[in-house]
Amino acid sequence: MRAWSGPVDGGIAVLGAGLSGLSLAAHLAAVPARPGPVVLVDDGARDIRDAGWAFWSRRSGLLDAAVSARFARIRVHAGGRARTLGLGRYRYGVVRGADLASVVGEVTDRVDDIGLRTGRVTQVHDGARPRVALSDGTELHPEWVFDGRGPDADDRGTSPDAWLDFRGWRIRTEAPLFDPDVPTLFDFRTDQRRAASFVYVLPTDTRHALVEHTSFAHPDGGPVGTAAHDEALREYLAAVLGADEDTYVVEADESARLPLASRPPARRSGNIVRIGAAGGMLKGSSGYAYQRIQCDSAAIAQSLARHGHPFDVRPAPSRFARYDQGLLRAVVERPAVLERAFAGLFDRSSAEPILRFLDEESTWRDEAALFASLPAAPLLRAMAGR
Ligand SMILES: Cc1cc2nc3c(=O)[nH]c(=O)nc-3n(C[C@H](O)[C@H](O)[C@H](O)COP(=O)(O)OP(=O)(O)OC[C@H]3O[C@@H](n4cnc5c(N)ncnc54)[C@H](O)[C@@H]3O)c2cc1C
Repeated sequence: MRAWSGPVDGGIAVLGAGLSGLSLAAHLAAVPARPGPVVLVDDGARDIRDAGWAFWSRRSGLLDAAVSARFARIRVHAGGRARTLGLGRYRYGVVRGADLASVVGEVTDRVDDIGLRTGRVTQVHDGARPRVALSDGTELHPEWVFDGRGPDADDRGTSPDAWLDFRGWRIRTEAPLFDPDVPTLFDFRTDQRRAASFVYVLPTDTRHALVEHTSFAHPDGGPVGTAAHDEALREYLAAVLGADEDTYVVEADESARLPLASRPPARRSGNIVRIGAAGGMLKGSSGYAYQRIQCDSAAIAQSLARHGHPFDVRPAPSRFARYDQGLLRAVVERPAVLERAFAGLFDRSSAEPILRFLDEESTWRDEAALFASLPAAPLLRAMAGR
């Protein structure tokens, strides 16, 4: 993306050039009209090239050229049984940060009024026209601000229903160990006593994979901690995959503690709109945000092009927030519920209905069929226990 060094007076400021900022910039470049120039402001603290996202989708998207792998099947191990499920019309895709940045650059460079400015945002003032203060003393005066500075709940007053607390190792093995065609989305063969936990295995080829230990942690509890995650990863690799420590190398790692909130946060204050994780795009019950961010970016850009404002963005029906809240409550109160629920939910040949439900595109009838496979009594007891 081009560097931007001029003043900002009108147009759009996008704060944060992470997943949501870059995605919105690309979608704004792709619509026929924008209300003035678009300037992304990023502090450079997080190198996007180190990031990566997995997602599922059944539609083509503007940034599909950034997808480096696509899978048609997934594996789930729950309730003592392994299942391999087809994805129907969906594909499970992987986007690497470096590829996303380069594809977004190609899209935005086709128009001449989108650019990137390096700077740390210190304050955003609402008013007749928003004011964005940077740490170097400069001020921007855009008409619209889209704030995508990331999933930091603490300074934004959001109270999560749970934490998605995870740590992943990028592993290289001596001998072939991974099935390169089938990622494991949930493997519950890990300790469930402290928190509902599973291991995720995303293969690159037979000898490389991201192996991640993930816990749904209590909203009032402390972090799981690096040592506990590492111990669980070592155990999983040895006991489940049969890989002793001297047979693999951890080439890189990633950790996060993402706030999972079933209720979407207030997104708008005057002409300031939160996007990305800060705008409630992390799905409450799963922590996935990539595809929701793509849909939201497309809707905001379309709305701006059609109406001159970004608010023609349809929220999901409120029942989905209630489902997320119920599941998260149940899972943090009684961790064992998650494995039982997933054993029932994934006991089918295709994951398509589950993915449609998680995308909040299912009908009442679809949901009734899915809920019939859930262990009703433990879920209800856990929800009532709060
Ligand atoms: C390790 C990890 C793995 C994840 N994996 C997946 C996945 O596989 N699939 C999925 O769907 N979701 C995943 N997520 C969740 C979610 O998609 C990501 O958190 C996503 O990056 C959120 O996008 P964002 O734009 O809100 O924030 P970010 O991508 O984090 O971007 C925020 C940007 O704002 C910048 N910034 C912050 N403060 C300032 C400031 N004051 N001034 C200027 N710039 C600032 C940061 O440097 C950064 O560049 C993952 C999250 C993490 C942390």
